[in-house]
Amino acid sequence: MADPKGFLTTPRELPKRRPVDLRLQDWREVYQEQPFSELQAQAGRCMDCGIPFCHQGCPLGNLIPEWNDLIWRGERGTAIDRLHATNNFPEFTGRLCPAPCESACVVAINGDAVTIKQVELRTVEEAWSAGTVVPLPPDRLSGKTVAVLGSGPAGLAAAQQLTRAGHTVAVYERADRVGGLLRYGIPEFKMEKSVLDRRIAQMIGEGTRFRTSVEAGVDITGNQLRARYDAVVVAIGATQWRDLPIPGRSFSGVYQAMEYLPWGNKESLNELDQEAPINAAGKRVVILGGGDTGADCLGTALRQGATSVAQLEIMPRPSDERPVAQPWPTYPMIYRVASAHEEGGERIYSVATQEFLGNDKNELTGIQISEVQLVDGRFEEIPGTGEIIEADLVLLAMGFTGPERSPLLTQLEIDVDERGNLNRDENFMSKTPGVFIVGDAGRGQSLIVWAIAEGRSAAAGVDAYLSGQARLPVTISPSAKSLTV
Ligand SMILES: Cc1cc2nc3c(=O)[nH]c(=O)nc-3n(C[C@H](O)[C@H](O)[C@H](O)COP(=O)(O)OP(=O)(O)OC[C@H]3O[C@@H](n4cnc5c(N)ncnc54)[C@H](O)[C@@H]3O)c2cc1C
Ligand code: SF4
Repeated sequence: MADPKGFLTTPRELPKRRPVDLRLQDWREVYQEQPFSELQAQAGRCMDCGIPFCHQGCPLGNLIPEWNDLIWRGERGTAIDRLHATNNFPEFTGRLCPAPCESACVVAINGDAVTIKQVELRTVEEAWSAGTVVPLPPDRLSGKTVAVLGSGPAGLAAAQQLTRAGHTVAVYERADRVGGLLRYGIPEFKMEKSVLDRRIAQMIGEGTRFRTSVEAGVDITGNQLRARYDAVVVAIGATQWRDLPIPGRSFSGVYQAMEYLPWGNKESLNELDQEAPINAAGKRVVILGGGDTGADCLGTALRQGATSVAQLEIMPRPSDERPVAQPWPTYPMIYRVASAHEEGGERIYSVATQEFLGNDKNELTGIQISEVQLVDGRFEEIPGTGEIIEADLVLLAMGFTGPERSPLLTQLEIDVDERGNLNRDENFMSKTPGVFIVGDAGRGQSLIVWAIAEGRSAAAGVDAYLSGQARLPVTISPSAKSLTV
């Protein structure tokens, strides 16, 4: 085990974040590098508890106590092998995962959890720096072909597993660049895109082919895909956004978060030769939705030079401590402060927007809100609490309702379930033989760690379908859920 007394003698310590005034002047990631010796001491806090609940907390089943021990001993090479054994892309999860493993850490029963996510991130970054993350092409090809539709983390994980198993894999992506929400949803200050690009380069080196600006179902039909490939993996995400059809919705200045964020990402990489058409510079911004997507809008708006930003949430403010009804080892609903929240803006809870307000030029000027309370499971307006917030830009960050209803679904005869997600069996296969569903498209809007777990598991289903043998690891079943009460 790691340091037998580490959890008693070493307090939990995260790497420092860059000062707010500096990081608002650029788009770079916010964390500074922790000296390796400090990280080793943090890994040494793992008590090797015997029944590691962190395994249950992590959808990938990452072998956390093993690589904590290896990093504590300084065995970086073996540590990255143990990490890559269960996670294709630890540099994505190490930066972006909300770390349900830490909520399930045994040290966290009556203390501060091990900084698992940071150990994961540093383990893989040390390997990239040492040049040991290299393409791993298969020894021989199977002669089978697979089309993966969508290049988010689910599609990428499935593609990497299947390429390494010897199948010839082409990834089709309708956007101009590969990566799904990692590319155009998640801002540069949370994960620099060079991190994505170097992993794509590894995949190209292994033989995975990428076809961008091709919309499956439009530029290539379901029939053509089925004729050309032995299996098709549908990894199109759950990008159908939730709208707010209240009076004034058509005023110019009201946009969806995912209409706004891609421009911010292009701006951060100097990929625009003009000003971003949807831009917060010099504007009073209101974000509707208190979640992570809203926080990404907040950090982007502050970097663009918004004059004010308010983030509104209909739910009450969560408590600072774990609620009694959400005991260890579940992932609790508590008040969380994202890096963007440290940088500015105001968070307002228990309010609902009643109307968008505008002028006779059809321009947004503000929103009418009121306080709400929960009555019999429904939000009701509290009379007399109406208020106007002046705004030039409103961003809707209220979640997603499932995959878009593209012609692809009809062409591939894919069924949609009652929640709007795509139906699949226990092997991730739809009712159409050889057509598999993976990631948010089947699960609904979720997390990167689940998308990778789905991609790995669906690849096992595809490989068994093509080869007739169970050869690849299955991480989760399609119906697996996070640890909840
Ligand atoms: C703004 C935002 C921030 C987020 N931040 C985090 C975070 O910090 N941490 C975290 O864990 N999760 C985060 N999430 C959630 C996470 O990004 C998703 O759960 C994850 O990306 C899902 O992966 P996926 O591969 O299933 O789908 P996606 O990443 O959505 O990728 C689907 C891809 O399919 C493509 N596509 C769709 N239709 C077609 C078609 N017909 N033909 C070809 N291509 C098609 C799309 O263009 C897209 O590139 C965030 C989500 C959003 C919206
Ligand atoms: S992927 Fe997420 S849950 Fe799993 S070990 Fe990493 S931070 Fe924890």
